[in-house]
Amino acid sequence: MSFEPVTSLYVHVPFCAHKCAYCAFYSEASSGELIQRYVQALIREFELVAAELKPRTIFFGGGTPSLLNLRQWSQILETMERLNLTGAAEWTVECNPATVSLDKARLLRSHGVNRISMGVQSFDDALLDRLGRIHSREMVFKSFDTLRAAGFDNINLDLMFAIPGQTPAVWGQTLDEALALGSEHLSSYEVIYEDDTPLFAQLQAGEFEVDEELACAMYEELVRRAEAAGFQQYEIANFARNQLGGSPLTAESPGIPAHACKHNINYWRGGCYHGLGPSATGYVRGVRTKNWSNTQLYCEQLEKGRRAIESTEKLGALARAGETAAFGLRMNAGWPFEQFRRVTGQDLRHEWRGEMDRLIKQGWARADSEGFQLTPAGLRFADSAAELFLR
Ligand code: SF4
Repeated sequence: MSFEPVTSLYVHVPFCAHKCAYCAFYSEASSGELIQRYVQALIREFELVAAELKPRTIFFGGGTPSLLNLRQWSQILETMERLNLTGAAEWTVECNPATVSLDKARLLRSHGVNRISMGVQSFDDALLDRLGRIHSREMVFKSFDTLRAAGFDNINLDLMFAIPGQTPAVWGQTLDEALALGSEHLSSYEVIYEDDTPLFAQLQAGEFEVDEELACAMYEELVRRAEAAGFQQYEIANFARNQLGGSPLTAESPGIPAHACKHNINYWRGGCYHGLGPSATGYVRGVRTKNWSNTQLYCEQLEKGRRAIESTEKLGALARAGETAAFGLRMNAGWPFEQFRRVTGQDLRHEWRGEMDRLIKQGWARADSEGFQLTPAGLRFADSAAELFLR
């Protein structure tokens, strides 16, 4: 049987120089030996899925992909070239400001990586320390210049707000400095207290309190300043510039700025993707897969010549459509009814009429003959709104 190739690829690099205080992603501070073993296993995993992949978007996330050294990156990039996996319209690599060098940036750029997502989080050295980040504010400025010098003209900065100890003035200063850098994209998330993280333990121990009102005010300040600086919000936490008229994906999606992250839009719009690397999830032909969240185990499986899949799940049509509805509502554009029907085979106006009416009455959403979307007030609580759509 032959299938349409999958056009979106996520690769997880599960290593960090040091574990941050708030982080629940699968990553570990590790020795060079395990990293080298991981690279060989990843190459094997690329070989196993290459025949059904034709990536239009690629995202290397982590962990800290920029932690891999020049030789390891060369091995990965040469493998991708050999297997015809390069040439994506959008190819992002996440970088930590402490691990960007001009040589590495040039190597990535020369093989077709054209977007960098940099984990800045804050421009305040005391808060960076509080979060357990390994970089300083100075490293952010230096790395940004290095990336520009290597030819990257599409850079995202990740920021974090409502960090314990962060005042509105410090947040305002961080926003000013981030916006002044002139990146093409900005992502900003409220601190989340995940089980089993040092920050969660500190919260449990009463070392600080969560101030929801302050978090709301910081979010509003983010939206206001980003828009004033020429960014267009297209998702709860994501803002992009719009100077470039339409790549093909942009043209397909009215209301989405040109520098929006097309890889993430594919997730929010219910598209398929392959996920490689430890802990990575994939969604291909209606089946969700999850790789082992254990790098040793991941390597062992691939050394035996098989995928390192821990679990697979086939969702029913309605359950999958409900999830897709929930994801898409995170976007300012919400769901055009026809697009939703094309993607899921279900009609929002029938199955979810009651939920839509309830949100509209609450002032959290609006609808017209074309589609349904959350209002700015609803977007702030999109997770609660989206839960209503799950089946
Ligand atoms: S750098 Fe990112 S992935 Fe690594 S520990 Fe920190 S937050 Fe987690």
